[in-house]
Amino acid sequence: MKYNIDQIKENALQELESADSKKSLESLFVKYLGRKGRVTQFLRNISNLPPGERPEAGKKANLAKKSLDAAFQKKRRDIESKALQTEDRIDVSLPGRSPATGSLHPITRITDRICDIFVRFGFDIAEGPEVETDYYNFEALNIQKNHPARDMQDTFYISDNIVLRTHTSPIQVRIMEQQAPPVRIIAPGKVYRCDSDLTHTPMFHQVEGLMVDKKATFGDLKGMLTLFIHQIFDDKISLRFRPSFFPFTEPSAEVDILCVICRGKGCRVCSGTGWLEVLGCGMVHPAVFENAGYDTDLYKGFAFGMGIERIAMLKYRIDDIRKYFENDLRFLRQF
Ligand SMILES: [Zn+2]
Repeated sequence: MKYNIDQIKENALQELESADSKKSLESLFVKYLGRKGRVTQFLRNISNLPPGERPEAGKKANLAKKSLDAAFQKKRRDIESKALQTEDRIDVSLPGRSPATGSLHPITRITDRICDIFVRFGFDIAEGPEVETDYYNFEALNIQKNHPARDMQDTFYISDNIVLRTHTSPIQVRIMEQQAPPVRIIAPGKVYRCDSDLTHTPMFHQVEGLMVDKKATFGDLKGMLTLFIHQIFDDKISLRFRPSFFPFTEPSAEVDILCVICRGKGCRVCSGTGWLEVLGCGMVHPAVFENAGYDTDLYKGFAFGMGIERIAMLKYRIDDIRKYFENDLRFLRQF
């Protein structure tokens, strides 16, 4: 006989040790205890042995078969209970796992909100280049070369005549050159200035508004901006128009709201004044209309501009502007 039954049993137990799935267990069972398995074959061949060896061999083979049967059964139970522990079982009462989706950046949210409000007032959204000529950024807006207002803005010059735009106002001029009145545009975008501290970053966002019509008045400007401030902050917030100066508007005003932190009592954020500056505005200067080729006797207009980060900082009460640009997800996920 080729195999001694003890050897067969030992091989079977050894292989059983490393079986780790139902499938490998079943093929092992077939190999040893199946109809043509080695143990079965051995039992069948006992009749070919010399008569004197048969009882001893039969006894040994039956014992081996019995203990292998028990070993297979035990292994089967082990594999099954392991599978129960590790397999994914479906608990239909558990809430679903939501995919990790992105969300809009707070600056994008505020930009969209501002634009939405003015779109409802009948304004169209306009855009312009971020790399701008000196003419559109300054001269066309009545800021002549050597004009003291150029000192107000620290400009990134690409060349003598090309700048990174310092405000969104050049879009006004570009639109007026392309389009006859009436005009109602709201123009959001990135602007650049050499400035970096707690409340300034070299790149930030502005939104510019322009309305030109035969009967546009300062009263219209005041009414529209009051409605706007009430929609962006809250219905009851007090605001004031304070005379100011911009080269491209006359008269000019700055709009303050009652401090959202201290409600007028005076705090660090409002430097103790009780008021916060939110935007600049005014009636379009006749020189700007002339540069755009508009008839200054026939048309009047007003313009306004604001820093989007400034609005976001006041609305969300976060007084370090740099947080908006650090891309820290822990910060951004709060909005
Ligand atoms: Zn305050």
